[in-house]
Amino acid sequence: MNPLRPVILAAARSPRVEQVVTRAPVSRDIVRRFVAGSTRAELLPVVRGLLATGRCVSVDFLGEDTTDRAQADATVAEYCALIDELATSIDDPVDSAPAGAPVRLEVSVKLSALGQALPVDGASIATDNAGQICVRAAAAGVWVTVDMEDHTTTDATLAAVTALRPDFPWLGAVLQAYLRRTEQDCRDLAGPGSRIRLCKGAYREPVAVAYHDRAEIDDSYRRCLEILFSGSGYPMVATHDPVLISEVTARKVREGGPANGYEHQMLFGIQEREQGRLIGQGIPVRVYVPYGDRWFSYFMRRIAERPANMAFFLRSLRSR
Ligand code: FAD
Repeated sequence: MNPLRPVILAAARSPRVEQVVTRAPVSRDIVRRFVAGSTRAELLPVVRGLLATGRCVSVDFLGEDTTDRAQADATVAEYCALIDELATSIDDPVDSAPAGAPVRLEVSVKLSALGQALPVDGASIATDNAGQICVRAAAAGVWVTVDMEDHTTTDATLAAVTALRPDFPWLGAVLQAYLRRTEQDCRDLAGPGSRIRLCKGAYREPVAVAYHDRAEIDDSYRRCLEILFSGSGYPMVATHDPVLISEVTARKVREGGPANGYEHQMLFGIQEREQGRLIGQGIPVRVYVPYGDRWFSYFMRRIAERPANMAFFLRSLRSR
């Protein structure tokens, strides 16, 4: 694992570093590699372009760790407006997809942006807020997946998804292969109709709860994937790792995919050629597209994932 990763992930939660990085003039250009824009108006052409190439999308309005009720409410309002605009302003055949094909429009939400960390009733406020977003999404024919954040929120986040799924059975959840608990969570959640996005995990976690060794994380990912692919849900394979992706493709050729299908997912700006290659093979690919001004923590996690990104970022800062 990149030795700088824990340092960068710690910085991702520092208001002081946030001030420095977000004020640096260089940031805008580099951030644009990973973030589709500041506003819905900047986002929508990007989404249209991705849909035109056969990709599905999951749009994330950036923001997390909200400690202010008004901001949580504003986030709900933004998601509702986003869903309406996605559904009405995009000339995409939402209703004309072949039976069994994935819904091409999705939004991803972080419960910490919806009030989960509020000091009083945070969990229930965030669940209610996610429910409001699901109501709007259901009316528009858009899917919702609840992102997973650090391990201190895993139980509350899964409880929120469990509480909402009876009304919104298509609601997706995320599991992180680096957590030691995740194999069991996969067993618990691989049931009929479930949509589970499996990723490696992007936060700084203690060794007591998470694997730190890359090979151990990859092996956990394989075990979790096997459980999800043998279950009766719809697995979402969220990784850019070429080895894991080719193992999934080989498995499909060997044994066929899960009965209800599956999809690959990648982040905006990463492995675009691989996305195109999978689509060329008829495998659905969804791109996670973030937008908004509160990009700092998301951006820092992307920097932490790849030493080359860090080097590029530091070089750009120095050259100004
Ligand atoms: P890695 O082993 O990290 O990378 C494999 C290869 O992919 C690298 O060698 C490199 O070529 C490429 N790559 C990976 N990251 C980058 C990058 N930043 N820039 C350029 N190339 C890169 N994490 C969560 O904790 N919670 C979530 O809810 C969540 N949602 C996600 C949704 C999607 C659709 C995706 C794709 C990821 C999500 N993640 C989430 C992030 C995830 O946990 C990983 O941190 C991230 O995907 C990098 O891991 P990897 O599987 O690509 O494998």
